[in-house]
Amino acid sequence: MSVLDVDNLRTTLNLNGRACHVLRDVSFRVAEGETLAIVGESGCGKSMLAMSIMGLLPSVARITQGHVVLDGHALEKEPERAMEKIRGARIGMVFQEPMTALNPVFTVGAQISEPLRDHLGLSRRDAREAAIELMEKVRIPSAASRYTSYPHEFSGGMRQRVVIALAIACGPRLLIADEPTTALDVTVQRQLLDLLDHLQDEGRMGMLLITHNLAIVAGHADRVVVMYGGDVVESATVRDLFRNPAHPYARALLASLPRVDRDLSELASIPGRVPPLAGLPDGCRFKDRCPHAMDICEQMPPPTEMPGEAGHNVRCWLHVEGGEHAADG
Ligand code: SF4
Repeated sequence: MSVLDVDNLRTTLNLNGRACHVLRDVSFRVAEGETLAIVGESGCGKSMLAMSIMGLLPSVARITQGHVVLDGHALEKEPERAMEKIRGARIGMVFQEPMTALNPVFTVGAQISEPLRDHLGLSRRDAREAAIELMEKVRIPSAASRYTSYPHEFSGGMRQRVVIALAIACGPRLLIADEPTTALDVTVQRQLLDLLDHLQDEGRMGMLLITHNLAIVAGHADRVVVMYGGDVVESATVRDLFRNPAHPYARALLASLPRVDRDLSELASIPGRVPPLAGLPDGCRFKDRCPHAMDICEQMPPPTEMPGEAGHNVRCWLHVEGGEHAADG
């Protein structure tokens, strides 16, 4: 059963009166209990995608085409008041920096209790009990006595556990984790990712895991979407993508990573850079870095094709039958 359907989504940025499609015809779905990883270098559109789904786009950006459907309910036209409720209750969010989600002047217990009272209508006393249970669930030691602690009294890893408790407080259907462990050391990273896996399994949530790190993809995702320049260039199961990457960008990413635990932000072996938002080219957005670029790649964005395996999609003219001649027709 599908929790999230993103269908032909286009997000457009107004840059001094010029319309830039920073997400172009993005489609994918996340099933119940499934983790879908979104990968790509910085500036590929991963966070713009997360903001589009959550209704948190900056004022200069808006969705101009397509749908974001959560449990069969389209979100893209919902007013901000409705989205606030949906974000609090049905979509949980965990970001890289826990202090963006926590208020330094309130105790962590008060902050976890708040959505339980607002969205679930619990009394003060019941919300306190439920908040302590959530703190135990995310494995914060001595949860009851730490209920009255402030965020600055926690380590970075423990703060992120508080944010996870907040994110799952109302039993969301979808968890969006945007680089949730990037700032933490490797041991804490592993513990938090294992915790997210466990909570997701237990709650049958769908999870959208946005990351630079291919080791995290390999260890924690079921399927993967590779983004470049605001396009989904390839989507597949993790196994298919790692064994048989089809898009030149995905191949280059994997070939550049002799050690899978390296971070994509460190890649130096793909010549060139991700194009800036203000300068996204027409045609294939990878063409300036692609060793296989053809005339057609300049002129038209490639369609999405399936090169073989079911559910394995790639957006590249190399995989379109007769694609190299499409420009002549
Ligand atoms: Fe390279 Fe053309 Fe494929 Fe783009 S569409 S990745 S430029 S071959």
